[in-house]
Amino acid sequence: MSELIYFDSNATTKTAPEVVEAMLPFFSERYGNPSSMYPFGGETAREIRLAREKTAALLGCDPREIIFTSCGTESDNTAIWSALRTQPDRRHLVTSRVEHQAILSNLPLLRKMGYRVTEVGVDENGRLLWDQFLEALTPDTALATFLWANNETGVVFPVAEMAEACAERGIAFHTDAVQAVGKIPINLSATKIDLLSISGHKYHAPKGVGALYVRRGLKFSPFLIGGHQENGRRGGTENVPYIVGAGRAAELALANLADENTRVRALRDKLEKGLISAVTHTRLNGGGAERVPNTTNISFEYVEGEAILLHLAGKGLCASSGSACTSGSLEPSHVLRAMGVPFTAAHGSIRLSLSVHNTEAEVDRALSIFPPIIAKLRAMSPFWRGDGPAPGSLLTCETGACQVCDP
Ligand SMILES: *Cc1c(COP(=O)(O)O)cnc(C)c1O
Repeated sequence: MSELIYFDSNATTKTAPEVVEAMLPFFSERYGNPSSMYPFGGETAREIRLAREKTAALLGCDPREIIFTSCGTESDNTAIWSALRTQPDRRHLVTSRVEHQAILSNLPLLRKMGYRVTEVGVDENGRLLWDQFLEALTPDTALATFLWANNETGVVFPVAEMAEACAERGIAFHTDAVQAVGKIPINLSATKIDLLSISGHKYHAPKGVGALYVRRGLKFSPFLIGGHQENGRRGGTENVPYIVGAGRAAELALANLADENTRVRALRDKLEKGLISAVTHTRLNGGGAERVPNTTNISFEYVEGEAILLHLAGKGLCASSGSACTSGSLEPSHVLRAMGVPFTAAHGSIRLSLSVHNTEAEVDRALSIFPPIIAKLRAMSPFWRGDGPAPGSLLTCETGACQVCDP
């Protein structure tokens, strides 16, 4: 089989060789505990300090504002629960209908505990409904939490403006920037953002390390209660090798930001334009909105996304349908549903997400792999006849199962 084409960088990225190299000594000879008093330990504390400075440089903030965590999910959870614990009188949270599971999965528990939660909607391009957002902010709101860039479509929310609106009303603002970091410039010192989450494995560090930015002066309550690590804000002995790796990855992400926004953007644009012109009955989800440069989400109508993925995998191409967390279920993605994408299109949606490790040769190969797969699947589809949909064919999803309806 020919070489792998990896177009699933929003799910995870390859750990950069430079990052692996930076980490290695901390698995072997440099194993000291950063909290120890002797120099063998203190030297690793110094490495953590350097990693914190590099991460702060990537985000445009003060190193003291960075807490290292185990992942993006931990950072998101820490932000939510810190905001609620430090403001016990406030019983309301505002978020959107298109968030990542790391936020959304907290909502049923919050509601059960008596909190009110407002989920702001988006338009057909995935853009935030601004008036609905402003209306949701009340004196009882403890936190507004919104994605910076959507993991499924790449659509960017105007988080700087949103944070301003929250600051004017005395409301804390958190953003899940896991899919924004390394793709768009971030300068936190110039914004009113209070809390921000990132995850190492989305920017070429390994899986299992993340960071949370907490603006200086913001009241904070730890999520992991224990020792005095991370300035008393996260208990648990520091994961030295991974934190060192995250620091090196932050340096690389900053250096690669220009390449991401020129070369990678051009690759993504070539890929999506090529697919849309080569295949009929497609739909570019979020195409009318501002997006990060690496992501495209295309619906191939009248075919199942899972079937497309299986055939792509057979050709060595890794992609994703909707979010990795919901694949395997027949329910179309909650993000595409919130955008009002019809079921016929939502079911056949494919996310392709690139990184600085991809090449134009890979895009060209992908452009030759896709069209025959779609044609073959459509030829087998009961919803397709010749070069268009069969008359009266409709997919509905009343019960989560797809069925043909007689209109
Ligand atoms: C991947 C991802 C997360 C979760 O990060 P982990 O480190 O895998 O826990 C959170 N939010 C978004 C937008 C993501 O893409």
